[in-house]
Amino acid sequence: MITVTKTFFPPFEDYQAKLRQIWESGWLTNGGRLENELTLKVGQYLGVSHIELVANGMLALQLAIKALNLKGEIITTPYSYVATANAIVWEGCKPVFVDIDEKTFCIDPSLIEAAITEKTSAILATHVYGYPCDVEKIAEIAGRHNLKVIYDGAHCFGVKLDGQSLLVHGDISTLSFHATKIFHTAEGGAVVCRDENVSKRVYVIKRFGHFGEDDYQDIGINAKMSELHAAMGLCILPMMDQIIDGRRQISTLYDELIKDSQLYHLGAPQGVEYNYNYYPVLFPSHEDMMRARKALMDKDIYPRRYFYPSLNTLPYLQQAAYKACPVSESAAMRVLCLPIYYELQKEEIIKITGIILGTIK
Ligand SMILES: *Cc1c(COP(=O)(O)O)cnc(C)c1O
Repeated sequence: MITVTKTFFPPFEDYQAKLRQIWESGWLTNGGRLENELTLKVGQYLGVSHIELVANGMLALQLAIKALNLKGEIITTPYSYVATANAIVWEGCKPVFVDIDEKTFCIDPSLIEAAITEKTSAILATHVYGYPCDVEKIAEIAGRHNLKVIYDGAHCFGVKLDGQSLLVHGDISTLSFHATKIFHTAEGGAVVCRDENVSKRVYVIKRFGHFGEDDYQDIGINAKMSELHAAMGLCILPMMDQIIDGRRQISTLYDELIKDSQLYHLGAPQGVEYNYNYYPVLFPSHEDMMRARKALMDKDIYPRRYFYPSLNTLPYLQQAAYKACPVSESAAMRVLCLPIYYELQKEEIIKITGIILGTIK
């Protein structure tokens, strides 16, 4: 069986050595040594100053919305994983969907201003697949209308734009370290803040709002990362350059194999140092995509429809928030993410593309 991604496991002995450290410390969670070490090292690897590790990427989004005191309407992308829209609704705000740019699949900045009302408090956009949103234009619009900006950076681990981490843009960027993501801690995530005071607030509200011994400062939740999770991250982090390089080679091979076909691989734009965490291809039609998908599944190969459905069509959001987003809806019906992971073999890639190309007329 070949799936869209395969969780990366570091050498067992490496993890075992970390477990021994945990056993010796007698400390499993609440700001443990490994969590502190991972916070420092991930911050250094990414090149960001204010980072708080959390229990998962969904909580990272919720904490971001809370830390910035967002209310009312939040302008967002329909082309992302459901967590993005769900976090907005879960925090009592209303998602206002703005269609995507057909070149990047990220929110189309030229459509944002028409969606701003007196209730708008922020823009929450996803750097989908790790392809950068138009951060300059979004910053300019946000500045003009006094809006906060959050980026769902769940796909952006290690991505650089013009030589700088993509995560430095916006008031807050969130990360997911879920087992299916390129860098993982089994479950985990992070909140990256531009402002140190906002980061301090995230630190407090991720631990119940409970600061020191008897200091209860704020309404918080529990979003802490345990030592067992941090240990996994510490084992994988030193291998990231190698992992990204392996994925780059897979992506290049796919590119060569599909270059003369009707399939369109989005790809990261110029000026982006990419992490190759997804390999999305767009088919000419929904029928073409479904036919290829079925042919693959018949051979025990499971690509994924990332991202489907277009979030503006989610049944439970229909009444509150439906607004047509034709570019996103069309993309969601035609896209397929092909298998890409460190251990994927050259022969398997040739087999996968062979099956797909055999279904395209
Ligand atoms: C994976 C993902 C999330 C959720 O992260 P978890 O760590 O699984 O909670 C949020 N947003 C996007 C875009 C994702 O891909």
